[in-house]
Amino acid sequence: MTRDFIIVGQGIAGSVLALSLLKAGYSVLVIDEPSLSSCSRVAAGIWNPIVFKRLTRSWLATELVPELTAFYKDASGLFGVELIRERAIIKPFTEQQEKNLWTRKAESDRVFLDPELYHGLKLSAKDTLDDYARVMQAGNLDVKLFLEKTRDYLAQKDSYLCERFNYRDLQYDGEKAFYKHVHPKHVVFCEGHLLSKNPFFDFIPMKPAKGEVLTIRCEGLLLEHDILNKGIFIMPSGNHTYKVGATYDWEDLSDTPTEAAKEMLIRKLKAVISVPFDVIAHEAGVRPAVIDRRPLVGRHPSYDNHHLFNGFGTKAVMLAPFFARQFVEHFKDGKPLHPEVDPRRFYKE
Ligand SMILES: Cc1cc2nc3c(=O)[nH]c(=O)nc-3n(C[C@H](O)[C@H](O)[C@H](O)COP(=O)(O)OP(=O)(O)OC[C@H]3O[C@@H](n4cnc5c(N)ncnc54)[C@H](O)[C@@H]3O)c2cc1C
Repeated sequence: MTRDFIIVGQGIAGSVLALSLLKAGYSVLVIDEPSLSSCSRVAAGIWNPIVFKRLTRSWLATELVPELTAFYKDASGLFGVELIRERAIIKPFTEQQEKNLWTRKAESDRVFLDPELYHGLKLSAKDTLDDYARVMQAGNLDVKLFLEKTRDYLAQKDSYLCERFNYRDLQYDGEKAFYKHVHPKHVVFCEGHLLSKNPFFDFIPMKPAKGEVLTIRCEGLLLEHDILNKGIFIMPSGNHTYKVGATYDWEDLSDTPTEAAKEMLIRKLKAVISVPFDVIAHEAGVRPAVIDRRPLVGRHPSYDNHHLFNGFGTKAVMLAPFFARQFVEHFKDGKPLHPEVDPRRFYKE
């Protein structure tokens, strides 16, 4: 069996890349063992174009937001389901200084910062947000649905294999690569934080960060559409359920949820709402972040047909569609990739 690309991993990165390559007319085989890592499956799927600390645009936000909405709307059409929900992110103020900063920044950024300052958002019968503003052009991807639909679509096209990719089975016959019975022209590694186990890319300095998230049921919470960000995010997910997250841990890199993280999220949630809620799910995953906080997109320093599409850290939903297009255009038309994402930036001979 010949394929233009073997893609290792079907998280957000591998899924977005596979769909982009198929659309451009390439043949792919995605090899994924979902039980190895759960990062994409626990993600809330939020995209947020603003860095709250200084109210600046996040890296490449102007280009990324239109690209991601077009990509996921296209995928929604392909699968016949709604994959994204565009909604604002509510940013409460605690000090006058924060309001002044917002007003000043909103004068020069009418795209993402709503200049209006709002008052009195009823969160529950007992809780009201006094002052707040709204980030526009934000929203979320239903990541679990996206992964499930992509996997079904790939399987229908005979382009999906559920198994662990064994690096030792990637062999060469002269210039040509083969993996068991498959002859790929290229192999793209999208293994998330498990890139640290990839012997071909052992020079990449990963800085993975574990994250935990709760799903709660809360009849009394009145937030129905927008996402609230107040130390934690609270995202309505339908039927009185909400995603609440997330934590960061750079030491424990297991996929196991911890009591300590659960308690911390509950404590932060109780600082926002005083009505009762039940925790109905508690999940953990490890974000594939790189030491310089830039993605990894491009080829190996010496194996021309080994590539990375990884390192999307906390923002895979936002970054993956833009860089998948760049990756495809690089192959099709020889266009250069963004200079900051080349994995060879870390390679020292
Ligand atoms: C709690 C939490 C909340 C988050 N919230 C958001 C958010 O709101 N918005 C956002 O954009 N991002 C969010 N993130 C970050 C986001 O989840 C990651 O950026 C994204 O999931 C990374 O996707 P990936 O495809 O690179 O890796 P992964 O999701 O880890 O996918 C890699 C896949 O490769 C498979 N694999 C690995 N090695 C092999 C092998 N040898 N053989 C076969 N298969 C293999 C794994 O099992 C997995 O299925 C969050 C993360 C966490 C932990």
